[in-house]
Order: sequence, then structure tokens, then C-alpha cells
Amino acid sequence: MADRFSNLPKEIAHHILSFISFKDLTRVGSVSKRSQGFCLSTPFLNLNDFSDVRLCCSTSKGVLDSIDRFLSQRGDNKMLSFRFSWRNHDTHENAGRIERCFCDEEKFRLSKWIEIAVRCNIEVVDLWIASSVWYPKLPTSLFLCPSLRSLVVINMECYISDAAASLDFSSNLEYINLSSVVIVGDVFWKWISHCCRCLKNLHLYHVYGLKDVNLESSSLESFSFVFLDPFSDYGCSLNISGDKIENVCINLVGSCYPSKKSFEFSTPNLKHLQWLGNFGTHVELGKLAGLERAEISSTCGVVDFDVLFCILRCICRVRVLILNDEIVKAFSMDSYVPLQLDGVCDLSIQTLNLNDGFIPALVALLRGMPSLRSLYVNARQVQDCSSTSTESNCSGFSMGYWKLQNLAFISEIQEVALQLYHGSNAVEFARYILEHAPNLGKMTIYHFPDQLDAVLKLQSTMIASAPVSFHEVSEI
Ligand SMILES: [Zn+2]
Repeated sequence: MADRFSNLPKEIAHHILSFISFKDLTRVGSVSKRSQGFCLSTPFLNLNDFSDVRLCCSTSKGVLDSIDRFLSQRGDNKMLSFRFSWRNHDTHENAGRIERCFCDEEKFRLSKWIEIAVRCNIEVVDLWIASSVWYPKLPTSLFLCPSLRSLVVINMECYISDAAASLDFSSNLEYINLSSVVIVGDVFWKWISHCCRCLKNLHLYHVYGLKDVNLESSSLESFSFVFLDPFSDYGCSLNISGDKIENVCINLVGSCYPSKKSFEFSTPNLKHLQWLGNFGTHVELGKLAGLERAEISSTCGVVDFDVLFCILRCICRVRVLILNDEIVKAFSMDSYVPLQLDGVCDLSIQTLNLNDGFIPALVALLRGMPSLRSLYVNARQVQDCSSTSTESNCSGFSMGYWKLQNLAFISEIQEVALQLYHGSNAVEFARYILEHAPNLGKMTIYHFPDQLDAVLKLQSTMIASAPVSFHEVSEI
């Protein structure tokens, strides 16, 4: 049988080998001398086979030895990517009680292999560790590796000593994604600010150990911070600044209590902001003159109205705004001070219903948006305990009420998409728009299967010249 693989050019063979796992790589390597050469020189290492294998202390050592042998055979051949995933194993040492173990040998080998990758001018490192007993430490050499461009780490510890960070080092890292990582000390942030001058993306998901984070980057374009663990929400302040930052995503969904975190951003060229869930104790966004799109939502009701309105005041010039009903409801509270969101052209609201409590809040919101061109009101999924889809008290506001509000947006609005919720509020709102919006160019109505009466009522009162389309949707 002809061995066509062995006759391939080296670059093509390497490309094919980049898709296969370590086990398959070693199998291919045993086919022929030339195949073995391809495998030992391949710059792509995918050591992801072992995270689903149930190992114990002794079998784990066997696997480690086989990887070790391979790495020593391949020597210092160029390594472009090193992907490794590993899970702690069970041990039965303690009177039959199953305990988790991350052996010293595993810690030592992992650190050694990362050092080897650094020596082989690694560009992409992707480390996925599942360990409930130990966060393996990343060796400092990885942070000082000039060839490294992308770093993805799950479940490890980042510590950079003062001595290492004081080096006049220039990193080529463009992408950092840390998940369930412990960051020890504040040198890590100095390293990002001073050494990572090419960094474009920084994503932090459940990162622990933060206190006073000061991050200043002249290259960063996208920053995200996700923390969904209400039971270990520790206090910290994040101070992020960067003239090139265009995208910020903060996700604190999951806690119905105020988050203890505070945020200050100096991102004058921010274009996209997404803030989901909680708002923390303090938020300062500065002037955002070029903001194009903002999404603000909460799933458990707004905990701190002052912080919410501080955010809303900073984004008042945004063009596209997406809110959910928990945010809109804040516009009807007693202490609400009218807020002008003059820049908003497109407004999208996700809400469970249009009940009588919601309508005055919606009116207060729309009153501050005289330039609104398109409005989308659509159903949102129930995601948590506090939200209930009430169908009662949804018929208290007639078209006469809407006429009395003298809302400026009605003369500007060009496109509307509206969900017909139960009750008459939504139908009356739709009728008001159809009969009073002179520039309406298109209207889309979504209705439930049992709302044919409401659809007929709308069809009989339509006088807008705009085309209206009706779409049946299933219940939420
Ligand atoms: Zn063990």
C-alpha cells in the first residue's frame, strides 16, 4: 500500500497534523521514518486527549512519561501552538474515601513543558486545567516570552514577581483570555500596562484575587469582565484606561445582591458597551462621545438606581440602545429625574409584558428620546426567580392616554416592531403609532395564536401609509 502521507511536502503534512490529537500524532509517527519526522517537527501540539480519561496517580505518571518522551525527542523544533488540557484524578488513599489529587509530578511536568514551549518560540498557548484541589502556577517565563501572541488559561494561577516585571521587556501578546484564574499581587497589571504594548483583547472570566486593578493600555481594543458567582463576590476596584478601547463588556448576571465591585473607565473612543446584570457599587464611564451601541440589562431588578443612572447619563449620546424591562422600570420610580437620551435613534426593549406598571416608565423613557427613528419591543425570556410574566393589569392605557403625552418621537419614528402582549395596552400603543406617526415607513406586529381579535382591530384602524406585516409567534 502506497504511503501517500509520507510523500507530502512538510508544510502540508504539518497542516494536516494540526487537526489531530496527541494519540493520533504518535500513531501517525509510527508509520514510517518520514512520518515520524513530520510528527516530531510539527509545530502544532494538541495534548487534549487526557482530560476525559479517568486516571489515578500511577496511570497519570505513565501518560506524563509518554508526553515527556515525545517532547524530548522533538527537541527544540519550532512550536507554534501548545494546547493542553488536564483533569485532576481520584485517589482512594484515605480510608476508602475518594479524594482528588493533583500530583507533584503533574505540577512539575506542566511547568517544565511550558518552559519547553517558551524555548521553542511558542506563539499560541491554550491551557485548560480542571482541578478542584490546586491551581497550577504559570511559570514567569511564559509572561516574558517574546514570541507569544495568544494566551488562553483556565484554572491556573498567575504570579509575576517584582524582579521579573521590572525587566525592560516588550511582549507581542495580542490576545489574553483568563478563566477561573487567580491573579496574585498587582505586578500582573503592571506587566500588562508596561510590557504588553500589542495587546488588543483582554477577557477576564471569573478571575479571583483582584483588589485595586489599574490597567492602562495604549493598544487594548476590547475588554470584557464576567463574574457570575454571587457567593464569592469579593470587593475590588477596576480602573481601566485606553484610548483605543472600542468594546467593553461587563457581565455580573447571577447576583440579586449589589456586587461589591467598582469600575472606572477612561475609554474616550468606546463604540460598543454591554453591561449585563448588576452594576456594582460605583461606575464611572467618563465622556463617551463616539458610543454607537449600548446594551444595558438586569435580570433581578435594579439594585442601585444611582449607579444605573450614572451609566445612563454617560451614554446619553449613544445611537443604538438596547434595554430590558428591569431597566425601563427605573424610569417610573419616584426619585426619577428626567433624562435626555437625545442621541438615541434605535431603541430595542426586551420585556415580559406591557402591563400598567410598565407603560408610565416606557413613556418617561420615550420622552427623553426625541430623535428616535426605530423602536423594537419584543418578548424576553424569563431567566430568573424574580421575573414573572403577569398577564393581569395589562389593559389600563388607551390610545387617548398616548395622545395626551405629546411625545416628540412620534413625528420622527420610521420603523416599529411590536409584540402584542396580552391585554389591550400593546394594541392601543400600536394603534396610536399607526394613526399618529407621519413618517412611519414600516411596522411589524408579532402576535400570539389566540390574538386574532387584536389583529383584526389593528387591521380595521390602520390609516398609516406604511406597510404593516403580521407574524404569529408562539407563547413565551
Ligand atoms: Zn495523584
